[in-house]
Amino acid sequence: MTQQQRMVDLAGDVSAPAVGQGTWFMGEDHSQRAAEVRALQMGLDLGMTLIDTAEMYGEGGAEEVVGSAIAGRRDEVTLVSKVYPHNAGNPAAKRSCERSLQRLGTDYLDVYLLHWRGSVPLEETVEVLEELRHSGKIRRWGVSNLDVDEMRELWSVPGGVGCVTNQVLYHLGSRGIEYDLLPWCREHGVPVMAYAPLGHGGAAKRQVLENPTLVEIASGHGVSPAQVALAWTIRERDVLAIPKAVSEQHVRDNAAALRLRLTEAELAQLDAAFPPPQRRQPLDII
Ligand code: NDP
Repeated sequence: MTQQQRMVDLAGDVSAPAVGQGTWFMGEDHSQRAAEVRALQMGLDLGMTLIDTAEMYGEGGAEEVVGSAIAGRRDEVTLVSKVYPHNAGNPAAKRSCERSLQRLGTDYLDVYLLHWRGSVPLEETVEVLEELRHSGKIRRWGVSNLDVDEMRELWSVPGGVGCVTNQVLYHLGSRGIEYDLLPWCREHGVPVMAYAPLGHGGAAKRQVLENPTLVEIASGHGVSPAQVALAWTIRERDVLAIPKAVSEQHVRDNAAALRLRLTEAELAQLDAAFPPPQRRQPLDII
């Protein structure tokens, strides 16, 4: 049976498929550009219509790659970019946003994220993000790499409850957020965007993708281990994953995960292989 593609509501007016596309390390090597643009376009064609980028990635190079990929099809895309913490004050964030829009070849972002917490007070960042929202440069805003105490602080700031997502590291080998951050986000209606959903770096990736339980479940479904890892990450309605892929096979794999459902028994097997946290753990950050 063909399953429906899973969607996640980021706010009443912004929703996105539960598997989107990351872009870290794109736009760094000119000889790779054409392949990167093709990969993103293929991802869009296959339904991964959320694209996550940042002014940091390739120092603007990734945003230029995304700009080429979405040219002529902006309306299909839920476009997410991020502001450096040192640019997250007023008016620096407005200038950063404008530069991102130019590189992306668009006049609005769907979601603009604070990349991580820096020294600018959250109150000032929220104020400038709200100004950008009111001026139509961004539709919504969110944060990234904020742990539960920082989310509580955000909620105490005027306008802080306008945050529509927290983008954090989350994969089978790193489940710390399930102890407190994810429940907090759930309780406050804040969907989580899972970055590095396959594990960041060779060792973490091998620990996830070569796990015998995962491999066995994948072979039972006739799919790749990465598809099972992604299907696990997006198993609830309020988590979406943003794998980055340039190889065609990886793009196809990741898109197919949108339609893969794991059974309760398989989820229990994965819990045994990758135990959920029993105590609070500091937020895992790259
Ligand atoms: P990923 O888990 O997406 O790993 C990317 C690597 O995995 C690439 O080498 C890619 O290869 C490979 N890959 C992709 N799909 C598959 C597959 N189906 N099977 C096997 N290998 C695969 O990690 P990232 O760290 O890139 O995170 C994803 C995105 O999250 C980033 O691109 C970025 O947009 C965001 N991010 C945000 C952070 C933040 O601080 N907010 C921090 C880190 C990431 P190839 O490219 O050759 O296809």
